[in-house]
Order: sequence, then structure tokens, then C-alpha cells
Amino acid sequence: MKISIIGSGMVGTSIAYACMIKSIVREISLVDINKDLAEGNALDLSHGNPYIPSPVEINGGDYETTRGSDIVVITAGRPQKPGESRLELTQDNARIVAQATKETLRYCENPVFLIVSNPVDVMTWAAWKASGAPRSSVIGSGTTLDTARLRQGIAEHCHIDPRSVHAYVLGEHGDTEIVSWSSANVGGISISDFCSSCPKNSECRRDDEFRQIFEDTRDAAYRIIEKKGATYYGIGLAVSRVIQAILRDEHTVLNISTVHEDFGGLRDVAFSVPTVIGRKGAERPLPLKLSDEERKGLMRSVRTIHETIESIRGQLQEG
Ligand code: NAD
Repeated sequence: MKISIIGSGMVGTSIAYACMIKSIVREISLVDINKDLAEGNALDLSHGNPYIPSPVEINGGDYETTRGSDIVVITAGRPQKPGESRLELTQDNARIVAQATKETLRYCENPVFLIVSNPVDVMTWAAWKASGAPRSSVIGSGTTLDTARLRQGIAEHCHIDPRSVHAYVLGEHGDTEIVSWSSANVGGISISDFCSSCPKNSECRRDDEFRQIFEDTRDAAYRIIEKKGATYYGIGLAVSRVIQAILRDEHTVLNISTVHEDFGGLRDVAFSVPTVIGRKGAERPLPLKLSDEERKGLMRSVRTIHETIESIRGQLQEG
């Protein structure tokens, strides 16, 4: 029941906070290249212990504090510099993620890696490559957050509890992600049947409304970053949910990113599909039932991730 979080910035600290107040871990270690930041955040969080159901041992420091972790969460990375290309940032962050993966393996035996740093699908591949671990034990937060945004959007529109909405964002966590509307349902009823039974059906312009919900989901990070500079609370809660599913061996279905052996002829590419999660990490992806258009969209998305992986592969191997 010990987790370590590498990168004690806004996202790393939000994950720690969410795990603490939900009492899903016994021990948390925070590591950051800025050791003072990790230590300061650990101290600050520890002062909440008297007010949560189950106190958590929390330390900040260097990699030695990660010893014996069941899960290693990686949120380390650096922000984009003005004028810098996305590829340059990707190369640097892949180096950071690969190094963090190798360092933690000196202190932790067979941990599940949970990657959050962006671009998360490419970083998941980088961690998998660096770790030499089985595919099942390297997970990316993938589209867990996007899926939550989608469910919340549908829930608000339909005046229904978001937990009763089952709809998934697939593919890249980013601009090419898609929604599987053909499998979306509310309480087990297909979304189209649910809409037909809605008292407001005659006045609802469903196609336009759903297109807007998808665009708002896909572009949410841009909107939030424009308003407050970064996103962290939503991802903190989403990642804490994945951590809970692993530590409690829940066999829960969540939309996480894993390195798939083959998709449409593309090998070793990480992307998100609904996946059963338990104590060892990703147990198995669920088979997808998609319309032709959705399948084409997913293929486009996976190809985009694959191209980015190919563009940094050499550099990562040299490193
Ligand atoms: P942040 O700048 O607040 O924190 C990043 C931290 O990483 C910093 O404290 C920095 O000192 C640390 N760091 C940098 N290099 C390091 C290294 N070599 N070793 C250890 N620590 C190192 O950024 P943030 O807002 O916390 O975001 C972190 C990452 O999470 C970013 O890549 C961001 O894009 C990503 N993110 C992902 C999602 C998602 O859904 N996957 C959502 C939000 C943010």
C-alpha cells in the first residue's frame, strides 16, 4: 500500500492529496529534482493527517525514499519553452521519464508504473521501453480524464448522475482522440434509446449537442490552461481512482493507456481502450465494438502516436 510519485509539482501533489483524503494508501513518497519542493509538499500534506479517516506516512526526498513501492507514479516533466517545438519537449520528457523509471527500479521490485507526464501515450511507451517490464505493469493515465470529462458533459446535458453514464474516449490523450458513441449507454440503455425516452427529446438537437460535448471534452485542457495555467485537480482524482483499482485488486474497467502489441499492423504503440485493472496492473483490454467511422478514427489516432514514438525512438535508445 505504498506509492511513490516522481514529480512533486501541481499534478503530483494533487494525486497525493486525493489518495490521502480517500484513504487508499498507507505510505506516499514524493520525489522531485527540486528536493525542497518534494520535502515541503510532504510536510504540508502530513499536517492533514489528524483530519482524515486513516493517517498516511508521507515523505519527500530523493529516490531512496521510493524503496518498496507497489506503484510508481511519474508526473515529472518540464513545461514547453517559448518557441520550442512539441517534439523537442517530447524528447526531453521521454528522457526524464525513462531515467525516473530506471532509478526507481533500483529500489522497488516489480512495481506497477503509472505514467501521467505528457504526451502520456508516448511517455508510457518510453517507460515501458526503459523498464523492461511486462506490458501489463506499465500503465498510462491515458484517457481516464477525458472519459471523465465526457461523462460529466453528457451527465450535465441529460440531468443524470455521471456515474450512470458509460461512455469512453479512445486512442490518444490529445487532439486525435475519439468517442465511441456506438457503445455509449446510460444505465445499460444505449444512448439513442435513452434519448428517445427523454421528455425533452423533441426539443433536443442531439447530434449538435453531442458534437459540442465531444469538442469541449477534447479541448478542455486548452480552456483550463488559458484560464489558470495548468490542470491538476481532475487528473489528481482520476489517477487516484486507478491507484485504488490496482491496490485493491478491483478488476475495474477504466480507460487507461497500455503498450499494445499490434493494432492494425502498428506494433508496440500505447493508446487507451477500456481495460480491466487489478493488482498486477492492466489485466486485459476489452474487445472493441466500433462503427466503421469510429474504427477509422481510432486508427488515425493510433497512427499519430506511433509516428511520434518513431521520431524519438533513436534518441531514447542512444540515451
Ligand atoms: P509542474 O511543472 O507543476 O510539475 C512537474 C515537476 O516535475 C516539477 O516539480 C519539476 O521540478 C519536476 N521534474 C522535472 N524534471 C524532473 C526530473 N528529472 N526528476 C524529477 N522531477 C522532475 O507540472 P504539472 O502541472 O504537475 O504537470 C506534470 C505533467 O503532467 C506534465 O507533463 C503535464 O502535461 C502532465 N499532465 C498530464 C495529464 C494527463 O491527463 N495525462 C493531465 C494534466 C497534466
